[in-house]
Amino acid sequence: MSTSSPSNAISGASSSPSSEDVETIRKNRVLSSKLYFDISDTMVPLIYSSSYDIAFFGLEKLHPFDSSKWGRICQFLIKDGILQQSQIVEPLEASNDDLLVVIKSIFRTLCQKLNLLPKRKTYFGNLNSSSNVSKIIEVPPIALLPHWLVRQKVLYPFRKQRGWAINVGGGFHHCCADKGGGFCVYADISLCITFAFMRLDISRVMIIDLDAHQGNGHEMDFGKDRRVYTLDMYNPDIYPFDFKARAYIDQSVKVKSATSTNVYLKKLDKALEVAGICFKPELIVYNAGTDILDGDPLGELKVSPDGVASRDEKVFRFAKEKNIPLVMLTSGGYMKSSAKVIADSLTNLSNKGLIDLATPPLGTFLCVHM
Ligand SMILES: [Zn+2]
Repeated sequence: MSTSSPSNAISGASSSPSSEDVETIRKNRVLSSKLYFDISDTMVPLIYSSSYDIAFFGLEKLHPFDSSKWGRICQFLIKDGILQQSQIVEPLEASNDDLLVVIKSIFRTLCQKLNLLPKRKTYFGNLNSSSNVSKIIEVPPIALLPHWLVRQKVLYPFRKQRGWAINVGGGFHHCCADKGGGFCVYADISLCITFAFMRLDISRVMIIDLDAHQGNGHEMDFGKDRRVYTLDMYNPDIYPFDFKARAYIDQSVKVKSATSTNVYLKKLDKALEVAGICFKPELIVYNAGTDILDGDPLGELKVSPDGVASRDEKVFRFAKEKNIPLVMLTSGGYMKSSAKVIADSLTNLSNKGLIDLATPPLGTFLCVHM
């Protein structure tokens, strides 16, 4: 680009007047969105809605897939006394305006309004006309950014106290702004990061994508955006074979089929060390797919349940040691055992003091709100 302005920092934007208009629309949508709300002091930043547990996109037909995985994670935690039902945050449903924030075809729509381009169906238009729309509408909003993120700039003690959020669903990392794929319809990771940029006034986000599959969606969305650093550990032998997106990964760590727990965790240690040297993020988005588990029909890796807990612990410890807030999404994982493995891992994080599922005393918050 020969010319630029501070307002066009979003990936893909140019300095033409129409793109500035589009950027303004995007920003207004983010600022007026209801997805982003404070949670009460009696709740923990663990986000779940019963609408997550639906059969969708044919995924439920995949024999081993547990279509109630997300609800069962919460049930395990409640049964074990780790969590109370009343502490769980129920997200709002994303509106069309929210979703348009990350659907690049809004650029095209605007150009059409200005009669600069011939009429053509947009990705979002295709969604609207799809017979699957009723199912799609039920897809959880995913993009909720909780209380602690809103206030992190002014409430340091509060940030110290929480500094994490876990969405029990989400992590649709094959979807980018232009198209869906691999069971992913909406680019929730891109939406989350776009919200963070616009509402939190931060400028550096690290994506740690440890799902077994390459996260080609967010890589296409942020590949040219220097505010985002991507560490992706993925099996190169499985879907999506997206070589264009691979070129955008800042740190690409390939873990081939049948990789064992020990080898996987050693590679992760090294990768986190490199990431910590290369980039200083203000927020980490952790895509924690459990399809790395031994026996997963899609991931084809051989990581044990304890290995998954160690993996999650390493990432949370990495964030905590650097005092960086972290959002975790549970992403892929297609075995009945996945829910229990995730619940056990969250319990481990709690036992190690890396997350705090207990409701903090009210007085603490009354103080920091001053
Ligand atoms: Zn996956």
